[in-house]
Amino acid sequence: MKLQNYINGALLAPTSGKYLDNFEPATGKVYSYCPDSDERDVQLAVEAAKAAFESWRNTDLEERMMILMRMADGIEKRMDEFVTAESRDNGKPLKLARAVDIPRAVSNFRFYASAIQHFASESHQMPGVAINYTLRQPVGIAGCISPWNLPLYLFTWKIAPALATGNCVVAKPSEVTPYTAYLLSEVCIAAGLPKGVLNIVHGLGSKVGQAIVEHSDIKVISFTGGTETGKRIAATAAPMFKKISLELGGKNPTLVFADCDFEATVKQVVTASFSNQGEICLCGSRIFVERSIYEKFRDAFVARVLQLKVGDPNEETSNLGAIVSAPHQQKILSYIQLAQEEGGKILCGGKEVKLEGRCNEGYFIQPTVIEGLDFLCRTQQEEIFGPVTTLTPFETEEEALTMANSVKYGLAASVWTNDLKRAHCIAEKLEVGIVWINCWLLRDLRTPFGGVKSSGVGREGGWEALRFFTEPKNVCIKQ
Ligand code: NAD
Repeated sequence: MKLQNYINGALLAPTSGKYLDNFEPATGKVYSYCPDSDERDVQLAVEAAKAAFESWRNTDLEERMMILMRMADGIEKRMDEFVTAESRDNGKPLKLARAVDIPRAVSNFRFYASAIQHFASESHQMPGVAINYTLRQPVGIAGCISPWNLPLYLFTWKIAPALATGNCVVAKPSEVTPYTAYLLSEVCIAAGLPKGVLNIVHGLGSKVGQAIVEHSDIKVISFTGGTETGKRIAATAAPMFKKISLELGGKNPTLVFADCDFEATVKQVVTASFSNQGEICLCGSRIFVERSIYEKFRDAFVARVLQLKVGDPNEETSNLGAIVSAPHQQKILSYIQLAQEEGGKILCGGKEVKLEGRCNEGYFIQPTVIEGLDFLCRTQQEEIFGPVTTLTPFETEEEALTMANSVKYGLAASVWTNDLKRAHCIAEKLEVGIVWINCWLLRDLRTPFGGVKSSGVGREGGWEALRFFTEPKNVCIKQ
């Protein structure tokens, strides 16, 4: 199967005529081909977006809402196809794609379709003198670039608010997981999205992504991916004075206090560590446990991790599927090696998994728990982005906070305690953009989403995204 770009309402082959191999991580085999597009395809997409912009920005809000709703319905109608494609492309368990990824892509469109009906701008009165009102206008053409870990979920999380606010979009999914973005183009056509409003250009970051970021007609960039890529995007976009939103890497702390609900905490911290093979930017990859319960927690945690099954993503009993690619699998294994060199003790896991049958060449790794590492060592400081987590005891709240805040990242944290006062206090002091107390990945789409420090710039979600994709203009009228 050769995937195609979606430009100006049509499915097109890349100008180069070339394709990239698209691997199924569970089998290690090529199963489709992703367009190897370049700046010429981006140029076509920009021209289409420019031609569509005036009409789309002036489209009645209700009409825009109806189109986005039809896009949501279109995905929902083909749920099984999307679920299968997402699992096959990424390696995640089918049941996870069915429970989380694809329903969330549907919700993203519905959420922003309805949000735009309620979005309002401010007015500021100068009593007896003047009234100011703020116009919120679409920025123009938005570039949306997304990663491979939650492919359609994150792709639509950017596209939906950009379109809802009247922008036209040139979007690039990850070349590692292009399939559901391709299916989305079919849905757009069926939903009657006017041509040129959304354009999807597939290909490498260094070619297509870079061309999007460099294009002078693309005024706003929403990017989710690695911190190094984010740096590069910022360096290109800043001198062009583009608006940018960067959702980058994480090395998230999980703080477990002795007064937590023990059983529930162990269970949820396992989920927070290993969901999606640990390939979620929000996964808790550094667990700090109050000394008085450290051994008890460690033993219960490891016992639960040992129950997790690594297996064929198609099997309902698999808790962890395949790692997204062979290079990523090697990167994770090299960090497990490094952890041992740094003095870490592997409590469970630590090895590649070799499955029998259809998946015998797939990229699998055991869920891995490591203890005995200094909180400043590389294993505890650098993003691994796989099924690997560390356990470290702490004595005091201050020590827990010092270790939690010691990394360059600042995306998310979770805190497990029944002491409400402490929870508030710690939440205030954690250097992150998102804190979960006694829960993890509980998402309300209205809340601001994003990180601080090297985890990014700007926020997505709710009004934040609608503000990001609009340019405020103040109009002052003298009375
Ligand atoms: P990546 O940075 O390699 O790639 C992300 C996207 O950027 C891909 O589409 C890629 O093709 C493109 N890209 C690469 N080079 C580019 C360039 N020079 N210009 C423009 N685009 C370019 O990241 P990845 O490996 O796909 O994803 C994993 C990373 O994403 C992890 O670091 C993870 O923490 C992060 N992530 C962050 C969040 C968040 O919300 N903060 C969510 C998911 C993933």
